Amino acid sequence: MTETSTTHSHHDPTMPPAAVSSDAVLSFDHVSMTFPDGTHAVDDVSFSVRPGEFVTVVGPSGCGKSTLLRVAAGLEHETAGSVAVNRSELGYVFQDATLLQWRTVRRNVALFAELDGMARPERERRVDEKLSLVNLDGFADKYPRQLSGGMRMRASLARSLVMDPLIFLFDEPFGALDQITRERLNSELLELFARQGFGALFITHSIAEAVFLSTRVLVMSARPGRIVAAFDVPFAPSRSPELRFDPQFAELSGEVSQALRGAHS
Ligand code: ADP
Repeated sequence: MTETSTTHSHHDPTMPPAAVSSDAVLSFDHVSMTFPDGTHAVDDVSFSVRPGEFVTVVGPSGCGKSTLLRVAAGLEHETAGSVAVNRSELGYVFQDATLLQWRTVRRNVALFAELDGMARPERERRVDEKLSLVNLDGFADKYPRQLSGGMRMRASLARSLVMDPLIFLFDEPFGALDQITRERLNSELLELFARQGFGALFITHSIAEAVFLSTRVLVMSARPGRIVAAFDVPFAPSRSPELRFDPQFAELSGEVSQALRGAHS
């Protein structure tokens, strides 16, 4: 493949349209991952994420989704193919908020910046700015246990935002939240991403969440995980919660669901 080849078909799952895009902030090129014990977790995955793109991966449990994120983050090393990403531009948000219980929200949000040696005035400025972005201004001096699950996820997001990443990796960040909180955070996240032009690679088990948030949804097969289907999501970047009741939304969700059911077999 060359950097200028952009003509492959939408329907060839091994070569989605953006696979070799040169302005990508993250790209996987024929990436496979086999663990030392022989577990073949990811098989020949190619796709890329450009600025402003929100790419979600759905697939059966254990199919290799987290492994894909861990490879992107450099926490695991691919055993074949290659990943192109500038890791200093990467933010990682886990399923658990992973906040330190003995630090206030403000000091949790400052953590990565502290570890990175950011000068205090700049750090404080950014912490205040990001707390405000995630609607936690009034909670800076609380401790994690004083926050709801949704607020803890917002704090976790703010902690990543402080480092000014261009692309975020999300590993089921809202999986533990109730439906209403989850939908509210989906809207907040969408608004934030539309405004800032971030890229995202997002993992979820919820098809509705995938379609609501994404510009593209990728379906992975059972292990070893391969991309078996890719759906471009046609809705405008600003999406109201009512979109979930739109017939077109239901239709696309149905198609993703059908591909996912195929992926299980
Ligand atoms: P998913 O996120 O899709 O649920 P994972 O990426 O967590 O799946 O895991 C994919 C497969 O790799 C699973 O079968 C899991 O048990 C296996 N796996 C994950 N980490 C390791 C490891 N360090 N060593 C061996 N196997 C692993």
